[in-house]
Amino acid sequence: MKKIKEVKIPFSTYDVVYKKDVKDMGKILYGDIDHNCEIIRVSERFSERRQIQTIVHETLHGINFDMGLPDVEKNVEMLAGTLIYFIQHNPELIEEIQKVKG
Ligand SMILES: [Zn+2]
Repeated sequence: MKKIKEVKIPFSTYDVVYKKDVKDMGKILYGDIDHNCEIIRVSERFSERRQIQTIVHETLHGINFDMGLPDVEKNVEMLAGTLIYFIQHNPELIEEIQKVKG
């Protein structure tokens, strides 16, 4: 899998850092996000599919943070899965979106 170096959202650019383990008080995580340092950490312990889901998931936390939206874990979880499905199942639309990027 290609390692993702950074993720851009309208007001921030997050560096993506791959770690052997990502933990919070001993609990093993898929990844996490540091809004102040603009870093998304991804655990390499899990599958490539999970690593991609984690980047999308943590990016949505970043969007919520930047936009001042309520950051509800369950919503982020559902939106991440939905967004991945949307991207995977609408390649023609994604291609057109890229063309009008400007
Ligand atoms: Zn989360």
